[in-house]
Amino acid sequence: MTNKLRLAIVGAGPAGIYAADILLKTEKKFDVSIDLFEQLPAPYGLVRYGVAPDHPRIKGIITALKDVLDTGDIRLFGNVYFGRDITLDDLKQHYHAVIFSTGAIRDAALDIPGIDLPGSYGAADFVSWYDGHPDFPREWPLTATSAAVIGNGNVALDVARILAKRADDLLPTEIPANVYEGLGVSPITDVHVFGRRGPMQVKFTPLELRELGELNDVDMVVYEEDFDYDDASKLAIETNKQVMVIDKIFRKWRDEPQTGASRRLHLHFFAGPVEVLGTDAVEGFRYERTAPDGEGGVRGTGELREVAVQSVYRAVGYFGSPVDGIPFDERRGVIPNREGQVLDDNDEQLNGVYATGWIKRGPVGLIGHTKSDAMETVRHLVNDQASWWSPTHPSEQAVTDLLASRGVQFTNLDGWHNLDTHELGLGEAVGRTRVKVVARDEMVEISTGDLPSA
Ligand SMILES: Cc1cc2nc3c(=O)[nH]c(=O)nc-3n(C[C@H](O)[C@H](O)[C@H](O)COP(=O)(O)OP(=O)(O)OC[C@H]3O[C@@H](n4cnc5c(N)ncnc54)[C@H](O)[C@@H]3O)c2cc1C
Repeated sequence: MTNKLRLAIVGAGPAGIYAADILLKTEKKFDVSIDLFEQLPAPYGLVRYGVAPDHPRIKGIITALKDVLDTGDIRLFGNVYFGRDITLDDLKQHYHAVIFSTGAIRDAALDIPGIDLPGSYGAADFVSWYDGHPDFPREWPLTATSAAVIGNGNVALDVARILAKRADDLLPTEIPANVYEGLGVSPITDVHVFGRRGPMQVKFTPLELRELGELNDVDMVVYEEDFDYDDASKLAIETNKQVMVIDKIFRKWRDEPQTGASRRLHLHFFAGPVEVLGTDAVEGFRYERTAPDGEGGVRGTGELREVAVQSVYRAVGYFGSPVDGIPFDERRGVIPNREGQVLDDNDEQLNGVYATGWIKRGPVGLIGHTKSDAMETVRHLVNDQASWWSPTHPSEQAVTDLLASRGVQFTNLDGWHNLDTHELGLGEAVGRTRVKVVARDEMVEISTGDLPSA
């Protein structure tokens, strides 16, 4: 049995980085050498490209992730796309095992008429735009005066908040220059958020809800008809501290007079999505009024309502993407697995192949949850030593040579430090903490030292 584990991890989001960290700290009978492959020239996944720019405390988790990468025990191969630049067969020749931590970046579908009309967007695409993801268009058509956001989770609130917020109030954050300019010319006056269930059944958290009420020049609008609580809601307020706080926040808004702000953020509950209206582009949103079903859920009432909007954002969840050559559960959008051990079509364990994070569990949960995911996966990986692969080229140089021979322009940890320093420098020059570089070729050029730093 080998006394060394050469491990590949695919995906340098929090799940992949935590898995590396936990493995390095785990008591084990073998040495570990880890190569982390990331399709972007920058690590940190959705912490960099999902978490809202005006949430600096959460973005700050990057500092802890950076410390892990900087321990010196992990090699980062950035700008390397698994399935194109490197394959499962390659990994089997160079490593004893692989952990996939490829996360999720696309929107779950919402199957209602009109959802594909111009002006109807997925929240994930908008998030990728405002967080400066290099694989998404640089331009975003912010021409609507009224927008609908479908969903009642924290991502829906992120989208609504960024749409309603003044661009100048986002300037102290790391938003890229094109995003500041785009938001700066938005004529929006009204953002309507729609949830199918009641205000006491929302999925968002109190902190994110309260924040909406603190936006400059934005009035919160809630509708009294939504607050006629049923017994299940009353019980939830009495027994669940989070729901109690949410109720308190709503009470404040229900009591407060409008200030005449130039933008309004409306929260509509008991509103099930029915149709995006319009012929050539979005002109409105139709929803059905729902009512409590007495069991904590809701039922349709048949009463249809419409609101005139020129854009619709569906924030109904993220969805994982298949990974080349690896089984995929099309229904759940995850790699099928048992506690992180990847399973084939017959539910048999695939030797040497593991999963962690959102691609293992599905796209729900906070960054912290990916740590417990990683612990479980790493425990199995360590215990499965007898079934690891037997690589023919296990040297560290061999994989570098392979990528170079294919002409892959990969970046490394030093390259990320170059890019990081460059972005911080861009920020410092204009009195901001950071300004993100968005274009992939520019990110690679700065990483590899082909451009002068700021
Ligand atoms: C809009 C939004 C806001 C959020 N806000 C918060 C918040 O405020 N607080 C909080 O705790 N959590 C928040 N989360 C949740 C948090 O981002 C996730 O829990 C976490 O990022 C999941 O980690 P992960 O590593 O599994 O996936 P990801 O973060 O998605 O990382 C996956 C990585 O794999 C890479 N990858 C994918 N495919 C390939 C491939 N083929 N080859 C190479 N690399 C690949 C991707 O580029 C990415 O870097 C938010 C999520 C979203 C979507």
